[in-house]
Amino acid sequence: MRALADDVVARCVEHITSLPAQPSCGDVHAEELCRQLREPVPPEQGREAGPLLDALFRDWIPRSFTAPGPGYLAFIPGGGLYTAALADFITNTTNRYTGVWQAAPALVQLEANALDWLRAWMDFPGEARGLFTTGGSMATFNAILCARERHLGAEIRRGVLYTSDQAHHSVLKASKLVGIMPDRVRAIACDAQYRLPLDALADAIARDRRDGLTPFAVVSSAGTTNTGAVDPLDRIADLCAAERLWHHIDGAYGAFFYLDPDLRQTLNGLARADSLTLDPHKGMFLPYGTGALLVRDGAALRAAHEATADYLPAMPHPQDFYDPSQHGPELSRGFPGLRVWLSVKLFGAAAFRSAIAEKRRLAVDAAERIARLPNVVIDAPPELSLFAFHLTWPGATRAEEDAATRALMTETTKRGRVMVTGASARGRYLGRVCVLSFRTHAAEIDALVEDMAAAIRTIHG
Ligand SMILES: *Cc1c(COP(=O)(O)O)cnc(C)c1O
Repeated sequence: MRALADDVVARCVEHITSLPAQPSCGDVHAEELCRQLREPVPPEQGREAGPLLDALFRDWIPRSFTAPGPGYLAFIPGGGLYTAALADFITNTTNRYTGVWQAAPALVQLEANALDWLRAWMDFPGEARGLFTTGGSMATFNAILCARERHLGAEIRRGVLYTSDQAHHSVLKASKLVGIMPDRVRAIACDAQYRLPLDALADAIARDRRDGLTPFAVVSSAGTTNTGAVDPLDRIADLCAAERLWHHIDGAYGAFFYLDPDLRQTLNGLARADSLTLDPHKGMFLPYGTGALLVRDGAALRAAHEATADYLPAMPHPQDFYDPSQHGPELSRGFPGLRVWLSVKLFGAAAFRSAIAEKRRLAVDAAERIARLPNVVIDAPPELSLFAFHLTWPGATRAEEDAATRALMTETTKRGRVMVTGASARGRYLGRVCVLSFRTHAAEIDALVEDMAAAIRTIHG
């Protein structure tokens, strides 16, 4: 066991320490490789680890986006704290059962503590409860379920959910999982700042009520994936209160910026939500596989999932103890709480707060410098740590601008130091930069600006 683990740890540490030197995006044109990799029949006999680990670290891991690297400014960066990997190692080797409180009460308490820290950070009330999920998508799924149970009961088909056309596509997927079909999801056209417009939202609700439908939920965004837009959360909260609708906020990208005092105003209203999606595998820099949900009325989350069976330990145990399987759809599960708990214990909350504030400052700096590059127009300045822009020049058509902006993302990434990706919004292709990895610092912003400047020179000859 020790020899195998030593070998794995040595390779992992070597991998992590070489991240800054790795290309920002590996060769992902891997069709041929993947065809060769197909293995329809499992191996009959076991074999030595060395060659397998060689292939993994040498041939397969590098054929990917270097998502944990410092230069990863594409999509929504994550990071991958080493402490979380160690927590997973402990979790998987000790393999305790944390689905029900009785099976490992102290361990479940640690998970409850970690959820409580998220609750405290987001200024949610004491009676709020939450759930660690595998990601933001599953958090939103559970939130819409709570909203549906609260407001629709058995009358699902008449229920209508509202969001903006900038919402993450997981909102539509989660709705469908919950039994809310796409024809009952209103994706309202965003305004010029890519935000959900209040008037259009109120009109849509009124129209549906007139048509005999039952509006039940609004999903707003605390930082959209396309441009980083923060919807007017406080005013949407007012509207939802007046209309008696469930207000869910998708903070998968943006919620942890609430820890930065400078962004409290931008995120004003976040703490009033009925439920909030957070993604510790984004804003807390954990490895993929950890999302989180907070529900203001903890009893609503419990009511949506509470269940028992003859083969389970007798229910109820004292109600003041948290029980994961009574707050989510899963019974047997990993122990995601330990990743969060151990990382916060080892680094302290202050480290997370200052890291998130640093990402914000880096993004503001990057946006100011990129705005000064020739032919760049900023479409969405950084509300949090994500901004969007496009290239233009006298006489350019929209199609030419889109193609040039697309080329800017590709050319910049090709240089190997940073990776950036774009998105389409309001009929235009936008370049975008998102700063969120704990490994990204000023040096990567310098590289980004230099490489973008060089790419623009290439594109414009
Ligand atoms: C990432 C993201 C999601 C989806 O979360 P997953 O963890 O990928 O399931 C939802 N909404 C926003 C705004 C996101 O950035």
